[in-house]
Amino acid sequence: MDIDPNAYLRPLPRKEAFNAPFWEGLTEREFRVTKCKDCGDWNWIPYEGCRSCLSQNLEWTPISGKGKLMTFSVVHRGPPTFGTDPYGVALVEMDEHPRSIVLLANVVDTDLDTLEIGMPMEIVYEDIPGENITMYRVKAA
Ligand SMILES: [Zn+2]
Repeated sequence: MDIDPNAYLRPLPRKEAFNAPFWEGLTEREFRVTKCKDCGDWNWIPYEGCRSCLSQNLEWTPISGKGKLMTFSVVHRGPPTFGTDPYGVALVEMDEHPRSIVLLANVVDTDLDTLEIGMPMEIVYEDIPGENITMYRVKAA
């Protein structure tokens, strides 16, 4: 069996009816999370109830896309589909509060040697060719 050399071979998420606004937001270069209309907390990852008060009175709301690097790892030997170059994986605490939104994301467009805990980061978007999906990544701001 021949494998398309341009095929995207990394894992992709599963879109579901509930989280459709999140995925649609990424294609429009907006990172949307549910904000609780009862207690005001931000909720991440997408879920049908507020993690603070269990309300289902939620509204999809774009966030700033700005945050700070909480921690990171540079992977030198990843799965074969991630290629042979080292890549960064980061936890980024977004600026929205009081409840922290902490993203786990791949680091792109950043010299991995310059990563430093506390540095400003921002969300960027990557359209996955042939997959009808946009993924989020982070880079140094
Ligand atoms: Zn709530």
